[in-house]
Amino acid sequence: MDEYEIVIGLEVHAELATKTKIFCNCPTEFGAEPNTHICPVCTAMPGTLPVLNEKVVEYAVKAGLATNCWIEQNSKNDRKNYFYPDLPKSYQISQFDKPLCNDGYIEIDDDEGNKKKIRILRIHIEEDAGKLNHSEHGGDTLVDLNRAGVPLIEIVSEPDMRSKGEVDRYLRSLKSILECIEVSDCKMQEGSLRADVNISVHKKNAPFGNRCEMKNMNSFKTIQAALEYEINRQIDICKNGGTVEQETLRWDDAKAQTVVMRNKENAQDYRYFPDPDLVAIKLSDEYIENIKNNLPELPEKKKARYMTEFELSEKDAKNLTSSKHLSKIFEDAVEICKNAKAAANLIIFDIARILNDKELEEEEIPFTGKELASIIKLIEDGTISSSIGKKVLEELFTLSKENMKDPKEIIEEKGWVQVSDENVIKEVVSKILAANPGSVADYKSGKTKAMAFLVGQAMKETKGKANPQMLNKIFAEEIDKI
Ligand code: ADP
Ligand code: MG
Ligand code: ZN
Repeated sequence: MDEYEIVIGLEVHAELATKTKIFCNCPTEFGAEPNTHICPVCTAMPGTLPVLNEKVVEYAVKAGLATNCWIEQNSKNDRKNYFYPDLPKSYQISQFDKPLCNDGYIEIDDDEGNKKKIRILRIHIEEDAGKLNHSEHGGDTLVDLNRAGVPLIEIVSEPDMRSKGEVDRYLRSLKSILECIEVSDCKMQEGSLRADVNISVHKKNAPFGNRCEMKNMNSFKTIQAALEYEINRQIDICKNGGTVEQETLRWDDAKAQTVVMRNKENAQDYRYFPDPDLVAIKLSDEYIENIKNNLPELPEKKKARYMTEFELSEKDAKNLTSSKHLSKIFEDAVEICKNAKAAANLIIFDIARILNDKELEEEEIPFTGKELASIIKLIEDGTISSSIGKKVLEELFTLSKENMKDPKEIIEEKGWVQVSDENVIKEVVSKILAANPGSVADYKSGKTKAMAFLVGQAMKETKGKANPQMLNKIFAEEIDKI
């Protein structure tokens, strides 16, 4: 496999978090009854005219500035002509040769951990299409135009990624930037962030191969699975002396393979031309400056601040700032409990493990920094041990945002309060010492590791509830007496 190089470029669509659609006043809200968020404009009734929503331009410029693009001050909207039943006008209003944002980049780590820039060719604004709902029983297909006219930005990268790890990091970084500047909610499961993944392979030092495009991927996990499959498929073709056909593919989750949607011999002819119904988009220097000056602290900058302010390693700081949700929980917790190290550890190790096990995204964490701070304080004041702290975290994940409980309440309900009663601990220690004379002898002969075993046994006996400092102290005292 090493003799082949992998080339990947992404076209990412993000639905903008504006209240209304791009060319009319219909709401953009997700999940409404079909065809309740529509009007004559977004259903393309004859004689209607589009009016550009100013917020869309502002959000796109914000995204461009946050990804190091230069802004086109003489921009415009163009018609991209094609027929499809979810597109009532038979053309999509998009941008062709004068996209709002150009030549940016996002910095990521490559697989060796070195910094690498993934170039962004352009970011343009466009309208989303409607949605076709195919009947499960076959036969009917119904069109829902609620999504028609929802504003999108399309962020087109150069083919600069060389592995699936780089794709994952690029997309996560892009998502965290868009969330941070609040231009999109980036809910992948609702389709507000979706990527077309272009991939080709070639022999080292040879020209780039033909690319295949996997359309509309909306989860990190399927992108990884699809890339894995597609990389192997293309390399196999090359190894057998064949050539990869340029195709548009779809990932079939059930079959766990890519399937062909259409062949793409030549670029489709969309007969782009400037939309005569819309005026040019002219942006002043002040307009752009003003947006630039009002950008929030971006993830890269936040990372640097965490390293100095909270004395975190680069890796930990990166971890925490990779998601707006994680960094919010972190900062809120630290504000209350003043223990950055403890908050960072619980998020990076314990919360991350639970998210991974439960296959959840960060925004699905049901609790806030308040609950996390409360766990940290309960550990600090000795009410619970740190292992119980982890159990409380697990417990919080079983609750919903609406029915969140104070960790204090949970430990009372479950009877998880730490045992710090000296008499009770002495009793446990005596019992463990009596049951393990071998370990006692080992300890006495200088094998200090035996103590950890004895403490572990006592913890087991008390189901993790014994105060560990007291256990250690009383074990030391009692062994001395033997
Ligand atoms: P289209 O709009 O028809 O899909 P573009 O030329 O705009 O075509 O390319 C779209 C995407 O394909 C870009 O993100 C680009 O980085 C990527 N790309 C271009 N060439 C290759 C290649 N040889 N291998 C992988 N990705 C590629
Ligand atoms: Mg494409
Ligand atoms: Zn409308």
